[in-house]
Order: sequence, then C-alpha cells, then structure tokens
Amino acid sequence: MAELAYEETFDCVQCGYCLPACPTYLTMGKETHSPRGRINLVKMAAEGHISYSELEGPINLCLGCRACEVVCPTNVQYGKILESAKEVIRENKRETKTITKRAKLFQEFVFDKAMPSKKILSTAGTGLALYQKSGLQKVARKTKAVNILPENLRTFEKILPTVEGPTQRKKRAEHYPAELKPAFRIGFFTGCIMDTMFSSINTQSIKLLQRAGCEVTVIKEQTCCGAMQNHSGATEITKKLAKANIAAFEKYEFDFIVNSIGGCGAQLVEYDHLLEHDPEWVDRAKQFAQRNVDISVILGQLRLPFEKKMNKVVTYQPSCHMSNVQKRVNEPLELLKSVPGITYLELPNKNMCCGSAGIYNIVNYEESMDVLDEKMKHVKKVSPEVVVTTNPGCHLQMKVGVEREGLSERIEVVHIVELLAEACGVE
Ligand code: SF4
Ligand code: SF4
Repeated sequence: MAELAYEETFDCVQCGYCLPACPTYLTMGKETHSPRGRINLVKMAAEGHISYSELEGPINLCLGCRACEVVCPTNVQYGKILESAKEVIRENKRETKTITKRAKLFQEFVFDKAMPSKKILSTAGTGLALYQKSGLQKVARKTKAVNILPENLRTFEKILPTVEGPTQRKKRAEHYPAELKPAFRIGFFTGCIMDTMFSSINTQSIKLLQRAGCEVTVIKEQTCCGAMQNHSGATEITKKLAKANIAAFEKYEFDFIVNSIGGCGAQLVEYDHLLEHDPEWVDRAKQFAQRNVDISVILGQLRLPFEKKMNKVVTYQPSCHMSNVQKRVNEPLELLKSVPGITYLELPNKNMCCGSAGIYNIVNYEESMDVLDEKMKHVKKVSPEVVVTTNPGCHLQMKVGVEREGLSERIEVVHIVELLAEACGVE
C-alpha cells in the first residue's frame, strides 16, 4: 500500500520563500496551488481532514518542476512528497473504481507496454514519418482536416519535428569507436520518445561524443527511464523499468552513462531514491545513478573540435529537471557560451518552468499555456535569433511559444546538441 510522505511535510515551516519560484502560484494565484499549500494539503489528507479526491486537483496541477525545492531554506523534499501523493491518488482511484476500466487499461498499455517497447515506438515513429513525408500532413493542413483534433493536439501537430523514417533510424550501430585514444567509455542512453521523435539528436550526440574522443556503446537492452510513469504515480512500473536499465548497463564497464534528455536524466539520477527500500537493488541503483550524466557535462570536460563560427544571438531556456534535480546549472550554459561566434543573452527569470512538464501541456493545456505565456514575455524582451534547450519536452513547448507569438520566422528553437553539431560540422 502506498503512503503519503507525512513525516517530510513537517520540514515545511510555511515561510513562503518558495512562492515566487512557483509557476503555478504565479499564474493561478491560489495558496492551494503553491508548494506550501500543496504540502499542507498532503499533511491534511494524511491526517484524514480532507479526502484524496480533494487533494487531487492541486496535485495534478503541479508541474513537478521542483523549483520550490532549490529555494527552500529548510530543504523540504518536495519531490518525495509530490510523488507519494501521486501514487496514493492513483491507488485510491483504482480501489474506489473512480477511474474507468478503459482509462485504466489505456494507461497500463501506454506506461507498461508502449513506452518500454522499441517495436511499438518504432511503429509509431514510422507512422508519423509517413504522415509527414507522404504529403498527408500537407493535405490535412490545407483542407483543415487537422481541425477535428482537440486544441491541445492541434497545437502540437503544428510544431512536430520532422521524424526520421525507419531506414534512417535502423542505421544506428551498437558500437562507435573513439576517433582518438578513448578519453571515456560511454554507455549512451537513448530514451523512448527522444529516440522516436528526435532520433537525429541522439545520432548527433553520439557523433559529438566520438569527436570529443569517447568510445560510445548503445546497448540494445536499455528501456524507457520511467519518468512519465513516475510523474503519474505508477511507481511499481517505474521500479520495474529502473531495474531493467540498471541490469542492462551494469553488464558493461562504462565510465559514464550519458543522455541528451534533461527530463529522463533526472529520473535516472534518482533511481537510488526510487529503490532506497529495496535491499537487493539499492547499491546497484546508487552506482548506476552516480555514473549518469548529461551530455553537456562530458562535452564540457573534453575539447570539441569546432569548425565554424555560428554568429548567432542565442538565449538559453534551462530544463527544470536538469537544473533542479540533476543540479546541472552551469555545464550546459558554459558549453553553449564556448561555441565560437555566439552572442549569449540571458533570459530573465530563466529558471521558471516553460510549462511543458512531461505531458502536463497535453493534459492541462490551458494552465500550461498560461505558464508558457509568462516565459514568452521574457523571450520577446530578449529577442534572440535562437532559443537553446536541453530537453525534448522544453524544445516542443518553446516551439509552441514561438509559434503562438507569430515569431517562427524570426526565432529558431534548437537542442544544444544541434547547435554544437552544426558548429563542429557534424551531420
Ligand atoms: S516549502 Fe520550504 S520555502 Fe516553501 S513554505 Fe515550506 S519551508 Fe518555506
Ligand atoms: S514543483 Fe513547481 S509547480 Fe509544483 S509546487 Fe514546486 S514550484 Fe510549484
């Protein structure tokens, strides 16, 4: 039986320092939608003063960005409190049958079958690539057939990246030798959605690591990191995926396990917390988590062979999970600033979430757009040519922001790896 992290709620002294850091408090203006308010509600639910269903609304509207955690003077473990609440709410809905059988089956299929399955994801990727390359997308847009989609899906359809077809995706080998004596032996974590929608960024990441002098291996046994499942309270499925990844990577002697996905990276570095009560796995999880780093950490330590000046005005939108969970604040920024010809402009209040937050922007579309609108006020002030991101979710969300503001002719949104690849002449 899941339990609320009741003891942890007592670390909150209700000081309110977290309020200005919280995007949902800023946009919704309600105490119940602030970190302090949510912690209080979890405490009240644990004491039986409110029901789990009363807790559900404010918890579901939390982005899970964990900006509150880094500003909290008493080190409240907000992530732990939030995850416990999500798990309890999920279990309660199943027990009280307030979730329909169909919704339950659909969730289980997506979390437990589709996301961890390379076959299903590859079929989905092929479907998307066909939609884009066969001309169907153009026809659907021209005839306004896309208008049958609900607004949230219509918005994201507009900014879909060009998905690689099955032949291009199959080209990826398992082993990539270093171009020089290897500086590091890297196990590359591809992610599930990333490797379907943004597989070219994974390919460029591997090539950049090779150029920087690393030996890279992409092991086939790896699976989805479990972030989406964890954020939805499906803790048991998350644990199963974590164990599969740990077992897969520990067979090899890698110096580091590297990814280019801020959100997945945050889940991977917290496998030790996830499995802290499992004596068989806790040490293995710790070793796995310690070796996990974002690509910017490795590329920042090595010398990248830049070949051209980029001559672009760029700003950087950090991924919350990269900054607040992985605690990688400077590495991506320093790496970005090292690109020749870059003029870097700081985005005011850059640590505020963009509103992407996994599938928050799909399930809580309007609230997510309110958060995004705040972000775009700053982007418009800075007026860059390029917005650089480090996570596919933020990448899509910032593209939506640029599109909503009618700025897509002037502002490009790229993953840091794409910018580095261009500057190094990597295709
Ligand atoms: S979570 Fe931390 S910062 Fe926020 S009210 Fe509680 S103690 Fe203060
Ligand atoms: S995780 Fe983000 S949205 Fe949720 S309470 Fe903390 S700061 Fe607010």
